[in-house]
Amino acid sequence: MLNTEEIRKEFPILEQKVYGKPLVYLDNAATTQKPQSVIDAQNEVYTTFNANVHRGIHHLSQVATEAMEQARHTVREFIGAAHSHEVVFTRGTTESINLVASSFGGTFLKSGDEVIISAMEHHSNIVPWQMLRDRTGITLRIIPLTAECTLDIDAYKKLFNERTRLVCVTHVSNVLGVTNPVKEIIGIAHSHNVPVLIDGAQSTPHIKIDMQELDADFFAFSGHKVYAPTGIGVLYGKEKWLNAMQPYHGGGEMIKSVSFEKTTYNTLPYKFEAGTPDYAGIIALGKALEWVKSKGIENIAAHEHMLTQYAVEQLQKIEGMRIFGKPDGAAVSFLVGNIHPADMGTILDHLGIAVRTGHHCAQPLMGILGIPGTVRASFAAYNTKEEVDALVKGIERASRMFA
Ligand code: PLP
Repeated sequence: MLNTEEIRKEFPILEQKVYGKPLVYLDNAATTQKPQSVIDAQNEVYTTFNANVHRGIHHLSQVATEAMEQARHTVREFIGAAHSHEVVFTRGTTESINLVASSFGGTFLKSGDEVIISAMEHHSNIVPWQMLRDRTGITLRIIPLTAECTLDIDAYKKLFNERTRLVCVTHVSNVLGVTNPVKEIIGIAHSHNVPVLIDGAQSTPHIKIDMQELDADFFAFSGHKVYAPTGIGVLYGKEKWLNAMQPYHGGGEMIKSVSFEKTTYNTLPYKFEAGTPDYAGIIALGKALEWVKSKGIENIAAHEHMLTQYAVEQLQKIEGMRIFGKPDGAAVSFLVGNIHPADMGTILDHLGIAVRTGHHCAQPLMGILGIPGTVRASFAAYNTKEEVDALVKGIERASRMFA
């Protein structure tokens, strides 16, 4: 069980009022707030041991390098990767997926090859593949949805053929809050000898992630959605794939030797980490994952699940309520009558309640649902049932205004 009251004290931002009302922050799927320990960790870098990593022989550089590599070790443990060098630091999920599209695509994919994605992907797991399609002539195949807004696994099985080279799906939908059966999806792909990339942006904050159990070939997530700072993220890749793939960015740190005639590349993970990394963000990411570990990801998941189910129950009582999909995670998307999501969001904002409105970077999914957007409430470890009640009251008030 989480002690939410105590947890909230660790998040200074939650103490503030918005328009004179206590802040009710329900936009956690977009980004989470940061505990003091994470804020302190980043400050500590700049106040006590800031120096560029890996290159320096001097004391500060060694301290910074050790702290950064310790954070890599923390990430490895958190996601159950076999090796620390399978953990590549990126700017976030978006960059991680672009890395795979560019490097895996550049190394292994050619015209006529097929990549499977799903109908519920975030733009960051659609557009990089379209860009690759435009460059190389690959074909995208889309896993459709069932009537219940889950992935149609039977249709997925039928998408495979001798040209299928990669499957890329989201673990948890950022719109529907639905958890996809990724273990099954990976198993099916592997039975065809096809590797799988999992977009873990919306699962890492809420689900125990274990690469040994999942057997994903690539796994991407963003630090800022799991209580860490913005601008830092992770690409996990199996050693065999990362070793075989061409680098993504070129520059310092990713090389062993450079001459005008020839460059040889560094070993993993540095081959994919050109330039000065965001070591302060990496160190703070390590702290954030330690924070999650200290509360217990299972406890966080149970708490968020309870809030989501409570929210669904309460929301369903509102006249004209339409909830999309059957959320089983930490987010719920809905519309009320004919009220435009932006109007609903504005009214809730004036009550101090932060929700996300719009297409949630999933325009193809909105097209399938036949709507321009939704209102999305999403939960984190610090949210409470009282905040769900405030949301419900706010929606009822908006409904009355528009009636
Ligand atoms: N994938 C999913 C499912 C997301 O929800 C998001 C962000 O909302 C992303 C990818 C992109 O994450 P980022 O903007 O941190 O790179």
